[in-house]
Amino acid sequence: MINPGDALNIIIEEAKLLSSEEKHILNCLNDVLAEDIYSKDNLPPFDKSAMDGYAIKSEDSVNCSEENIGGFKIKGLIKAGDFCEEVIKAGEAYKIMTGAAVPQGADAVIQIEKVRTEDETLYLSEAVKKDNNIIKLGEEIKIGDLALSKGTVIRPVEVGLLSSLGYEYIKVYRKPTVALIITGDELVDIHSQIQKGKIRNSNEYSLKAMLKNLNCDGLSLGIVPDNKEALKEKMEYALEHADIVLSSGGASVGDYDFVRGILEEIGADIKFTSVAVKPGKPLTFATIKDKLFFALPGNPMAIINDFQEFVRPAIEKMMGKSQIFKEEFPVILADNFRGKAGRQKYLYVHIKKQEGSYYAYKAGSQSSNHLMTMSRANGVVIIPKGCENVQAGECFNGKFIFR
Ligand code: AMP
Ligand code: MG
Repeated sequence: MINPGDALNIIIEEAKLLSSEEKHILNCLNDVLAEDIYSKDNLPPFDKSAMDGYAIKSEDSVNCSEENIGGFKIKGLIKAGDFCEEVIKAGEAYKIMTGAAVPQGADAVIQIEKVRTEDETLYLSEAVKKDNNIIKLGEEIKIGDLALSKGTVIRPVEVGLLSSLGYEYIKVYRKPTVALIITGDELVDIHSQIQKGKIRNSNEYSLKAMLKNLNCDGLSLGIVPDNKEALKEKMEYALEHADIVLSSGGASVGDYDFVRGILEEIGADIKFTSVAVKPGKPLTFATIKDKLFFALPGNPMAIINDFQEFVRPAIEKMMGKSQIFKEEFPVILADNFRGKAGRQKYLYVHIKKQEGSYYAYKAGSQSSNHLMTMSRANGVVIIPKGCENVQAGECFNGKFIFR
């Protein structure tokens, strides 16, 4: 049985960055940028008015006050998209709309609400500071500057930014194809009635949902009976067609647990066969050429815990993410819990913030098959191995789940 930290190091070492592909920016949401993006233009490309108002030379307004109202000749109207070829002269003003290019020679815009106009004259009762209401050329980014660096996750704001910089297609890392093999003679599918001795297959759905959460699609190979030949065929097919293979169930040492034996037969490099964690101990990790194989336990809570702790970081690394570990923070136990002598225990709990600290409350039985507990939980607290009885008031690291 290997320690979780060592297991994770081995997995991360084996998870290699995938190749990149060029995609339309709208198809890149949540993908990871595989190139540095430099600005092709100055943004904004010209001095731009931030308000509807009047463009003037600020030096013309220095003496304007309530007592000394200044008059300016309104030369015309500049709307967004126009470019005024005239150079503004002393004592002149242009009416200007938000987003329009400030006329040459003008260096300030005074809002419409702050002035009075009559016929062709603008009356000003205050001095206007230089650069007032002007967004300067290149203020946001200058031509040739680095706008986004390799490794950035594309969010809606990056899609907008890329379009403003003129990038319609960008290079992002490919996402791994993940094949799912669900084993178990006891399984019936979602739409079936449960007959004697049978249960519904939930692992396929929770795995697919977790993959979806990672913006990654599962290639489902369906339910395979506990039959060595049938399983071997499926495993070989999966390894041919996917970057990562996840199997559910049959990973332990029972009479019908064939996964490990088959991995040996097909010449996989088995790195470890169990991890000192609860839930999720029966986890086998193997590599076959450049493919990763995770033989995950069948218990519904164990499979989710192992996926989150060991599979997710591998997938995120392969997708090019730099931040592959969830943020942990100190959590104070609000109830008494049980840890585990020889294993690291993951307590699924309800984490609440109270007076600046996080507290963990019971969410239900910590038995490996209780999805109900996990569903009531919003977080997990990690109890190091050897801490068997942990008491209210003790503090451990925790994190939120599925965020
Ligand atoms: P196994 O690892 O195959 O021994 O399975 C361990 C436990 O998980 C058993 O109680 C199984 O019935 C249950 N189990 C296995 N596969 C699934 C599945 N796909 N969905 C829900 N429960 C499962
Ligand atoms: Mg089984």
